[in-house]
Amino acid sequence: MNNDKMKNIVALCKRRGIIYPGSEIYGGMANTWDYGPYGVLLKDNVKQAWWEDMVMKRSDIVGLDSGILMNPRVWEASGHTQEFADPLVECRKCHQRFKQNGLKKCPECGGELTKPKQFNLMFKTNVGPVADDKNITYLRPETAQGIFVNFKNVLDSTRVKLPFGIAQIGKAFRNEITPGNFTFRTLEFEQFEIEYFVKDAASADKSFADWAKTRFDWYINLGIDKKNLALRKHSKDELAHYAKAVTDIEYKFPFGMGELEGIANRGTFDLKQHEKHSGQKLRYTDDKDKDVMPHIIEPSGGVDRAVLAFLVDAYDEDEAGKEKRVVLRLHPRLAPIKAAILPLVKKAPLVKQAKDIYEELKDKFFVEYDEVGTVGRRYRRQDEVGTPFCITVDFENLEKGQVTVRRRDSMKQDLVKIDRIEEFLKDKLQ
Ligand code: ATP
Repeated sequence: MNNDKMKNIVALCKRRGIIYPGSEIYGGMANTWDYGPYGVLLKDNVKQAWWEDMVMKRSDIVGLDSGILMNPRVWEASGHTQEFADPLVECRKCHQRFKQNGLKKCPECGGELTKPKQFNLMFKTNVGPVADDKNITYLRPETAQGIFVNFKNVLDSTRVKLPFGIAQIGKAFRNEITPGNFTFRTLEFEQFEIEYFVKDAASADKSFADWAKTRFDWYINLGIDKKNLALRKHSKDELAHYAKAVTDIEYKFPFGMGELEGIANRGTFDLKQHEKHSGQKLRYTDDKDKDVMPHIIEPSGGVDRAVLAFLVDAYDEDEAGKEKRVVLRLHPRLAPIKAAILPLVKKAPLVKQAKDIYEELKDKFFVEYDEVGTVGRRYRRQDEVGTPFCITVDFENLEKGQVTVRRRDSMKQDLVKIDRIEEFLKDKLQ
């Protein structure tokens, strides 16, 4: 079902308000997508899970939220102005650009192609009212540089001690020309990145291995099937100019293996470059008052790619009774809606009790109330967006002060006392 699987997921995302094509009423825009009402919850939950696991629960990592627009000298120091480019050929007739890939004639119009030229992936813009070369700046193509330029600020304003990390979640932009495979490759995306600073090269080697494991396990703990994940070590000639070693975490998408996250040993490259270009000392002073230039390990992931992998891995079709159903078997931490509250039929005492339960729960969990259509259809709708529990109020159980709680994956039902529902959910949603 592989090829169809991707199509089905894209269709489900649109139909159920998870992800929509960008600017759709104007005919769309290639490689742009918008997150709908359920999608924004899913994406937020992915970011929150990362933030809780990587920042909140660790004492060695602090957070940061730096700007998208930065002094353009940052991108000279980082090497992006010179190096962040793909070689492309351009059609002399229709001016479209393509990766060369053995092309002889323009695949769009048959026109003659230029020799390959370096094409920078950074989006340029101008600051101020005049568009000239002196006020050019860029939309950041990665969040990492915001961390490096704040390294000194964090040292001076907090009590961090080596080894420590600075973590950031934020938007990045790349003028990608290769086709996107849904949200896998987009012009605008979010990254979750950590720059982890350690005292020397030996510590960096150890930390590099530790981070690859920590990040690999993170995806598995949130429900990704281990057999769909792989670690891939970059060969020497594949390494970017700044990296001593890189290991990618790849996911088996229906369209092939694709990178979710790269863990890079960047050595001292970044801090050295920014020292050189800014003229500021970017060193850590150790207990013996010695200046140390830390080595850096960078786990750098894409939020949108993680969301896509969680969606693909969770997507399933099975039989509910005699009917086929689509179900997203999302980890409860990631599920957009944690529980739906449903009166079995739209009759006064059931509706009132269901609404009371909804009111009670809605300040603590993302829950939904639904009374439209048969209960079977309402279950199906919740299965499609991955809601782990459906709480149903029926006449017989209402008299006993209880409800049925249906589980999304097994479709098994438990009887739960109305005053214990909150406790039940808290316990099961970890
Ligand atoms: P690729 O080789 O797929 O272009 P990359 O190696 O250039 O990715 P990095 O620069 O290492 O990517 O960026 C870190 C992470 O940011 C990637 O692992 C990916 O999850 C995410 N990312 C990068 N480019 C995009 C994009 N155009 N759309 C969505 N996510 C992206």
